[in-house]
Amino acid sequence: EKVTDKIKALPKDATYFSLEFFPPKTPAGLQNLHARLDRMAKGLRPLFVNVTWGAGGSTATKSLELASLCQSLGLTTVLHLTCTNMSKSVLDDALENAKLMGIRNILALRGDEPRHHEYLDATEQVRNGGGDNEFVYAVDLVKYIRKQYGDYFAIGVAAYPEGYAESAYPVAQDTSRDLPYLREKTAAGADFIMTQFFYDVEAYISFEKVLRTDESGVFKDIPIIPGLMPVQSYQIFKRTTKLCSVKVPDGVSTRIESVKADDEMVKEHGIRILTEMIDKIRNSTETGGGLPRGFHFYTLNLEKAVAFIVERCSLIPEIPTSNEVAVEDEEDEGPG
Ligand code: FAD
Repeated sequence: EKVTDKIKALPKDATYFSLEFFPPKTPAGLQNLHARLDRMAKGLRPLFVNVTWGAGGSTATKSLELASLCQSLGLTTVLHLTCTNMSKSVLDDALENAKLMGIRNILALRGDEPRHHEYLDATEQVRNGGGDNEFVYAVDLVKYIRKQYGDYFAIGVAAYPEGYAESAYPVAQDTSRDLPYLREKTAAGADFIMTQFFYDVEAYISFEKVLRTDESGVFKDIPIIPGLMPVQSYQIFKRTTKLCSVKVPDGVSTRIESVKADDEMVKEHGIRILTEMIDKIRNSTETGGGLPRGFHFYTLNLEKAVAFIVERCSLIPEIPTSNEVAVEDEEDEGPG
């Protein structure tokens, strides 16, 4: 099922959430995740789940395996795909396999910056022998999927509420520099937008407001789903925020630092911080675009923190009553 159809089917004032998982390296890891996914599917009932893709196609087989597992658990799946530093045949195989598995959703990403061993910009690199790969930016992948598959896939793209950060080439993050490109890839055929995680909720709200009121109009009616990273531990929090150049506002930093020696307290403060962020976004009158409000969780394959957060924020949808299920079943059988 397309996530966009599922979002459209919700009441306008509804909230929903999605969960992101990465493919475990070992069969034992996958088995553990299988059990966790099953529990989360039944207990938390996300509207959809995302399966990440290792840059350069490094996890191609494992990502497809995990995506297939998610589908088999009845979870609507978004498969991430990157397009640079990767042979086109890997990309074509992934799209074809996704289709065979009944996956209707792709998050189209660029992936890591192509290696700049010659210090050329990315376009130059391709002109100077990028092999069979015509992809330089995510927009190229969006166009390619549309060209090859028409409307079969709902396509998502990434956005950065604090500005895109390139770890290899640190330049000041600047949302206004990214905006024309976000417009371009959205206009090229994106159906939804998912963001980098953040802790600066004001920055997120003003980012979404800029998009919603953008004169191009391309962001007016598109689901924009803020990315949230639950705090799993002090070390992970420090590492991920640094790695992704995500700002930690003073208020958040003080609270986490004050309990950094106590793992349980770090988690508890993290849950409260995320809960407050969700409430602020949900209550903001400047965002949402009149659409159901979604939240995306980077789970790092962990269950507890996100379970507490969606529970405390009342994001878990009710199970349809047995009556409603019966009616749906009847309808599914169709005439005769
Ligand atoms: P793009 O949209 O191509 O943008 C990259 C940069 O280039 C930006 O600075 C943009 O402003 C600029 N740019 C775009 N078009 C042009 C142009 N025409 N001319 C000049 N500059 C341009 N990575 C993975 O490897 N696997 C994953 O599963 C994964 N999942 C992610 C999920 C989310 C929600 C997010 C936010 C990121 C994810 N990433 C993942 C990381 C992502 O691949 C990297 O951040 C990557 O470096 C950029 O990808 P993009 O799709 O945003 O790139």
